[in-house]
Amino acid sequence: MLLYNSLTRTREEFVPNAEGKVSMYTCGPTVYHYAHIGNLRSYIMEDILEKYLRYVGYDVTRVMNITDVGHLTSDADTGEDKMLKGAKREKKTVLEIAQFYTDAFFADCKKLNIKTPDVVAPATTCIDEFIRVIESLIEKGYAYEAGGNIYFDTSKLKQYYVFNDFKEEDLEVGVREGVEEDSNKRNKADFVLWFTKSKFDDQELKWDSPWGIGYPGWHIECSCISMKHLGEYLDIHCGGIDNAFPHHTNEIAQSEAFVGHKWCNYWFHVHHLNTNSGKMSKSSGEFLTVSLLESKGYDPLVYRLFCLQSHYRKSLVFSYENLDNAATAYKKLVAKIAALLKEESGEIEPAVFDERKAAFRAALDNDMNTSLGVTALYDVLKAKTTPATKLSLIADFDRVLGLDLIPAAEKQRKAEEEAKVAVSDDPFIREIEEMIARRVQAKKDKNYALADEIRATLAAKGVTLIDTPQGTQYKIQ
Ligand code: AMP
Ligand code: ZN
Repeated sequence: MLLYNSLTRTREEFVPNAEGKVSMYTCGPTVYHYAHIGNLRSYIMEDILEKYLRYVGYDVTRVMNITDVGHLTSDADTGEDKMLKGAKREKKTVLEIAQFYTDAFFADCKKLNIKTPDVVAPATTCIDEFIRVIESLIEKGYAYEAGGNIYFDTSKLKQYYVFNDFKEEDLEVGVREGVEEDSNKRNKADFVLWFTKSKFDDQELKWDSPWGIGYPGWHIECSCISMKHLGEYLDIHCGGIDNAFPHHTNEIAQSEAFVGHKWCNYWFHVHHLNTNSGKMSKSSGEFLTVSLLESKGYDPLVYRLFCLQSHYRKSLVFSYENLDNAATAYKKLVAKIAALLKEESGEIEPAVFDERKAAFRAALDNDMNTSLGVTALYDVLKAKTTPATKLSLIADFDRVLGLDLIPAAEKQRKAEEEAKVAVSDDPFIREIEEMIARRVQAKKDKNYALADEIRATLAAKGVTLIDTPQGTQYKIQ
């Protein structure tokens, strides 16, 4: 499988550290508000990656943190703790809003068919781990105390800016936007590992540490939680592209300083979902959530299909017009599959099955080209083969795509049958259906005169019969 690696800026053959096994870490949400559908784009594409790795036979262990402390409004260690800001906004405690928005996040994930990772770890449950790693970084000379806080010393590294898209100037953007520079830092790029004395005196959650009562920085959370559950060698680290710098850059700095060797081999970054007015955000414009889409009548899986129709490394523009197109596509797909369910299924044709599956795999093997994966699905529907072959291919692809296609089609078929039963309570409809049944029998008996007579009788009542390969249908004038 070829996967684009942000670290090397090339598409590389994916080779995990241990044969047949993949360790995967995902930066989880900061639970101070609902996730917007931009955040969820990242989680959908990461879910597809995980499901595809499992589909091709890897034994995947995926870990996700929940950021419930330490993520400041500016990623460069300035501003307010987002959790505290959320708690003040809602007049609740930090832990109350953390629980509420963690539950809301997983409820959204469920609606979008995003699998819950094998391990989900809230940062507040791993404080001892953070302290242990920070102590070791100080001992190794990579961290220093200044003004009461503990900082990572980026000048001790051979190379700090590993994702070479991001440079010193990117840090200055934050400064230009009116954020004060921290005079405790020895180098501009240094970052906080542990806050004790800072301007956040009203920080609600604080823990004792060798450096005084305080709380962890955001970046150390992910390194420690990943290493705690996945060890010193990580195969894939995922996140939205905005996390590449400074968050992931800092994760690499501190993790490699701690373990003394390369930590993570592949960096998988999902590009942003934008609106026509620019970057999607929780604080400006219409706050687009899964619940909002549902309230407007969209099935959350329509949003999943919308995301799958474009490549994860391209930014994607959200508009209701685009979402409507995905809704129409989803409806048509389900209707076609519902029609397949009504047909005589026949036998699975192994040669066709293998050929189509190979096309699907080729799409996903090519740096997760999900839009080509969806095309492979359409090609199955168009293929000259039995319904049994098509249905088993659709079920197979959907293990990765996660669009619930067969269950949705079954639901539609059931609804159609129920609607038919309801209609047949009408005596006129019952009469038509009885006459059609008599005509079918008459044709079987080669009594074409009677068949024609029935057709004529119905025509006189304003009912036109249409003979199709699926049986006789009718139209009432
Ligand atoms: P947060 O809850 O802010 O920590 O973000 C959760 C995840 O969403 C991170 O992986 C971010 O990189 C990602 N993310 C943030 N904004 C967007 C966006 N507009 N489109 C796609 N992913 C995003
Ligand atoms: Zn992270």
